[in-house]
Amino acid sequence: MEKIEEKKEVRTIAAVLEHAGFEAYLVGGCVRDLLLGHTPKDWDIATNATPDQVQQLFPDSVYENAFGTVGVKTDSEDQTLKIVEVTTYRIEGKYSDMRHPDEVRFASTIAEDLSRRDLTVNAMAMDLRAGAAHEIIDPFQGRQDLRARVIRAVGDPEARFQEDALRILRAVRFGAQLGFTLDHATEAAMKKHAGLLEAISKERIRDEFMKMIMTDHAHEAIRLMEKDGILKYVLPELEEGVDVGQNKHHIYSVFEHNVRALQYAVEQHFDLDVRIASLLHDVGKPRSKRGEGPDCTFYGHQVVGERMALQILDRLRFPKDMTERIALLIREHMFVYDPDTVTDAGARRLVRRVGKENLEALFQVREGDRIGSGVPKAQPYRLRHLKFRIEKVSKDPVSAKMLKVNGADVITGADMAPGPKVGFILAILLEEVLDDPSLNTKEILMDKVRQLAQLDEVKLREMAKFAKRSADDAQTRIEEEMKKKYFVQ
Ligand code: ATP
Ligand code: MG
Repeated sequence: MEKIEEKKEVRTIAAVLEHAGFEAYLVGGCVRDLLLGHTPKDWDIATNATPDQVQQLFPDSVYENAFGTVGVKTDSEDQTLKIVEVTTYRIEGKYSDMRHPDEVRFASTIAEDLSRRDLTVNAMAMDLRAGAAHEIIDPFQGRQDLRARVIRAVGDPEARFQEDALRILRAVRFGAQLGFTLDHATEAAMKKHAGLLEAISKERIRDEFMKMIMTDHAHEAIRLMEKDGILKYVLPELEEGVDVGQNKHHIYSVFEHNVRALQYAVEQHFDLDVRIASLLHDVGKPRSKRGEGPDCTFYGHQVVGERMALQILDRLRFPKDMTERIALLIREHMFVYDPDTVTDAGARRLVRRVGKENLEALFQVREGDRIGSGVPKAQPYRLRHLKFRIEKVSKDPVSAKMLKVNGADVITGADMAPGPKVGFILAILLEEVLDDPSLNTKEILMDKVRQLAQLDEVKLREMAKFAKRSADDAQTRIEEEMKKKYFVQ
């Protein structure tokens, strides 16, 4: 595994440093990736030159952060090489709050720099000096752990996790990223100090969580965190489903079912939103469970789950649009797709609620739900049928924007003043058109506008509300019927 070729840009930077009398090593993730035969995502150089000295040697560089990192710009076409990070050797000062190093102190040797790193597989360096023949500096036997496929903390694991508890999640994440197992003492220390994660910033936790979810072993990472008492500091709500049994249509607990839905999303290489929505799709079940045994029910769990997901993702400081998209996928994941039940109007209303751009993701979540139940009903044709149905109605109007009349038409056509009445009239028209798209002509709608314009604002508001609610109720009634018929939860 040791045929290593560093890139020309990296070699050039190292040569400049060496020529000026400094050391230059490749460090961290890129050495690990090279030794594994993977392509590094970024290239990091460590040196004994100070940040000022590095900047003087490379005029086209920027001081990137408070940790002594200088980004050296190259003219490479390769995204991963456009900026090479050159960081002065450092050791971290004592840690007082287990969140941030108190101070950044520069070190004088590569050995010191390696000793502050988190995991043995991340604590190797490759000597870039011209005569060094790519020698690997490996004081913590990282290569041995790469071969044995083991994640192990550098030095005393308890001390390392106490210094920075995020390393607990990093150990889980790298295990999932590389498909490695945890060294016994490292895992024991993770278990013991998991509670320190409470003091770690939510943003740092979110970043590790997202990386973890995007790995090929994300589902195993979730199981591992549950087993080791780590999950409750990341996603306590997910843990509520452990040992919560389901009804006769499921063979797994709520927790196991959620994890299996994630597994499906991972295996299908679905995107981050779909993976998280799959993992959380039934998170509302423990709180909505009624009764015990084969006939227990979970009515409304998708709405409870939506609310919980909003809270969870907000707490973890996920971007607002992502939070809302995931919550929407959870709320709508129970959509009816029985071809005998879904009408064209029902399909249009689904499109309106979910948005065209989210339909594919919603189908993906539902697939995972089905497969993750362990007893998938042989009815993928039904999903296909609904997709076809949606395709068919997708050109129909599903939002007020798609009506053949707009606010200005209403105002001039009915000779009325701008104001809330206009919006209510458009809302009433949309409900009618959702049921019957053939009504969407300017002539028919303007007729209706003139009639509606006679009514006062209070009346119109009621009608608008009522039209939407009765349509949604009709949909809910159909869904309730279906559930009774099939006991689908
Ligand atoms: P990847 O980029 O594939 O996620 P990486 O190894 O480059 O992997 P980074 O998070 O970019 O991971 O960190 C770069 C290096 O910095 C790591 O390899 C590790 O040596 C060190 N490092 C990062 N975070 C910590 C930490 N919290 N404690 C100790 N060392 C760390
Ligand atoms: Mg990196």
